[in-house]
Amino acid sequence: MPQRDGAVTMTAPAGRTWWHSVSSTRTYEQCPRRYWYSYVAKVPAERHVPRAWRIGSAVHAALEAAYRHRAARPDAPLADALPYALDALGSAWEELELPHADGSAGRAASWVTHSLQRDVLATSTVLGVEQPLRDELSSGHRIIGFVDLLLDRDERTIEVVDHKVTRRQVTPDDLAEDLQLNVYGALVRRRWPDRDRVRATLHYPVAPAAVTVTLTEDSMAAARDHLAVVARRASGDPTFEAVPDRHCNHCPWRPRCPAG
Ligand code: SF4
Repeated sequence: MPQRDGAVTMTAPAGRTWWHSVSSTRTYEQCPRRYWYSYVAKVPAERHVPRAWRIGSAVHAALEAAYRHRAARPDAPLADALPYALDALGSAWEELELPHADGSAGRAASWVTHSLQRDVLATSTVLGVEQPLRDELSSGHRIIGFVDLLLDRDERTIEVVDHKVTRRQVTPDDLAEDLQLNVYGALVRRRWPDRDRVRATLHYPVAPAAVTVTLTEDSMAAARDHLAVVARRASGDPTFEAVPDRHCNHCPWRPRCPAG
């Protein structure tokens, strides 16, 4: 039986740098206890990650390999990276213990193939792949984001791209308000202050398709402020209360959580 954590003290380990991200912010807002397991105590997950999430991770690994290849060979067509992408997909498929008998491996390979052959992002110079971007807030809290892909569009414009392995696409209006892309935009403005225009794209390899908007200074500032507020709450939280709900069904720490 897994140990349950009803009696432990929910304090953060002293002396460790505490980074705040969009995913940690969302986790805290959903359930502070899950945040504690994942980001403070770093308790290893005790449940298998759902299959759909693992397929998404494998497709991400393939796209990462493709765009890294393209970054090293800026004049080559993106389709030239396909063999490297399919290799990475196969390795990730094994590592993530995904099945071969149900046709999902073939579907994932076809999404990667079509996305790269059609180059729906019209890939320009690659500035970064899985690029970490960091900032320190005036409160002293540190924020970090890992951007799937950064593209240099022109002398004013950088585009942040996030790959989404799903059939459901956002509307441009929703994308303009998206917390993750706006935080990435704020981090880009910090890192490249001479670039005054940030575009945000959600890339859907399943379709394949892309939805793009230009972010506003106000929406990027609001996203950064939101992270700052949650960072303050999380770092001063003495209890990290559990908030059980339907999200417990996918919580990797449910076996040891008394509320789950
Ligand atoms: S099982 Fe539910 S209540 Fe417990 S940590 Fe996970 S999400 Fe929170």
